[in-house]
Amino acid sequence: MKWRLMWIAALAVFAAVPSAAQQRIEIFDAHLHYNQEPKPFYSLDQVRDVFRRNGITGIIATSRPNKGTHELVDAKWPELKVVPFIRPYRVRSDIQTWFNDPTIFELIKEEYARGYYRGIGEFHIYGKSAQSDWVKKMVDFAVERNLYLHAHCDEEALLILFKHNPKARIIWAHTGFSVAPARVAELLDEHKDALWGELSYRGGITGGDGKLTSDWRNLFARYSDRFLLGSDTWINERWFGYDTIFKEYRGWLAQIPADQAQRIASGNALRLFGLRRE
Ligand SMILES: [Zn+2]
Repeated sequence: MKWRLMWIAALAVFAAVPSAAQQRIEIFDAHLHYNQEPKPFYSLDQVRDVFRRNGITGIIATSRPNKGTHELVDAKWPELKVVPFIRPYRVRSDIQTWFNDPTIFELIKEEYARGYYRGIGEFHIYGKSAQSDWVKKMVDFAVERNLYLHAHCDEEALLILFKHNPKARIIWAHTGFSVAPARVAELLDEHKDALWGELSYRGGITGGDGKLTSDWRNLFARYSDRFLLGSDTWINERWFGYDTIFKEYRGWLAQIPADQAQRIASGNALRLFGLRRE
């Protein structure tokens, strides 16, 4: 009887190991805004606490205006890898007009001269408005300088971005929100080494019970090297809810094999930006 109890206790310890390891999985937040209009929701010290608390070891840093990104780069926290992207906006209303605004292209060039940027975005673009000359100029600018694009766009605009320059490398913010999983798979197949999906606000990943849906379990099994996680702190409420956002991510990461979870949580971002060899 005694031995049997010990055996059960030992089994319980083994069973607990994978979930404990999952809880400590490193996360790269590939959709972060540190907006300052005019003041940020959290001070830099508070932001650092939020990252530590949530096991965030890397970020794509963007902000409106770009000042917040400069501050995150300059902070040089040893525990955090910062990958800065140029945000092509000065104020919120630029979201509606940037793609026809020559001064935004100047802004991109000026920011790029800082020398540390790895991408442009997140920018918003829908349908045929992606056909503008200024969007093409931006896509070409990015390709020529090996920059990623972080695009919040519908499928039509996504395809136009690739038409502007087939060598574009695009992180698809929100992975199309609600585009059918089968179509997401086709797009990933059609744009190998050129398209990755970032998962904030992406619908359908889990059901109401927090369990992964079969569609997304299958997508992650086939394309675990193509997805990234993000907080999308576009408004203060998202900073306020940061812990909840990552608790949800960790909830479904724990439901897939550890190697897939590790790639989606941080491995893919580190590989894309040459921060760690796999
Ligand atoms: Zn965003």
